[in-house]
Amino acid sequence: MSNEKEILVSARGLTKEFAAQASMWNSKKQVVHAVTDVNLDIYKGETLALVGESGCGKSTLGRLILHLIQPTRGSVVFNGTDLSKLSDEELRQQRKSMQMIFQDPFASLNPRWTIRRIVEEPLRTHNMFNGSDEEREKRVRELLSRCGIRPEFMDRYPHQFSGGQRQRVAIARALALNPQLIVCDEPVSALDVSIQAQVLNLLGKLQKETHLTHLFISHDLSVVRYLSDRVCVMFLGKICELGVTRDVYENPLHPYTKFLLDAIPLPDPELRKEDKDMLTGEIPSPVNPPSGCLFHTRCPKCTEKCTKEIPELKRTADGRMVACHLVEGEKIE
Ligand code: SF4
Repeated sequence: MSNEKEILVSARGLTKEFAAQASMWNSKKQVVHAVTDVNLDIYKGETLALVGESGCGKSTLGRLILHLIQPTRGSVVFNGTDLSKLSDEELRQQRKSMQMIFQDPFASLNPRWTIRRIVEEPLRTHNMFNGSDEEREKRVRELLSRCGIRPEFMDRYPHQFSGGQRQRVAIARALALNPQLIVCDEPVSALDVSIQAQVLNLLGKLQKETHLTHLFISHDLSVVRYLSDRVCVMFLGKICELGVTRDVYENPLHPYTKFLLDAIPLPDPELRKEDKDMLTGEIPSPVNPPSGCLFHTRCPKCTEKCTKEIPELKRTADGRMVACHLVEGEKIE
């Protein structure tokens, strides 16, 4: 990670609310609070992991950062440019620098296209190499080879590859335009465990080679531990803890982070902790979020204050940001 800590992405007050039908039998519209008031900086060259349980808003936040969906409120500044102020064409140009890798490589690759066509599509769309077929083919070969796919297979179709190889093709496509930021949305969770490490190693190697910035979204804290510089924990659309990965894993400050870390299965029964805080209580809904701290209905340390007052994100002595009434820190302006 860069020592200079130059900011690539700065999200401020980022909020997304969706209108959704109450149920199959009830056409009444409800508001889903998917992401609420998120302030987040992503530094150039780092891997920031965004973690939390399914439905906590992390994928929505990833899409908001790339402006694949419009925020209800708030802004994203990418490399000094406020994305909400760009025209459609300017945004299309800006997207060259911001790519996404999805969870299911089979669904994200067109099954009727060869992998040559899949990887060269962004090059065609943005008229790279002034339309030269020869230069484009050279680039596709180089990208596939860097991602561990033999270029002689470039005229095969996605179904002729394994899940791990398909994800390598998706990575090659994401790299085609030399992006600065890649949002990796659960990129290994659809793969066999034996293949996951290979894809993670590839992402790490490519990041080092090209000084890429990664926003790595995962529900699995054991996956992000060794690949992220910082980790950001989300609960019900809000950040509850953000800090340097080692600090967060060694000494989680927010009760929800502690719960997530305690839930990582340990292979050695001797190492399993007996004093785990068990979560009880009702799982809150993003349609009708609870008052006060969003986590209070499940938190073993909940006090009366937690049920009434929203804890603000504070900066702790070690530079972490934590939103919990029990954690001391300075208010962030
Ligand atoms: Fe638990 Fe209260 Fe902290 Fe929320 S503010 S995490 S309810 S202790």
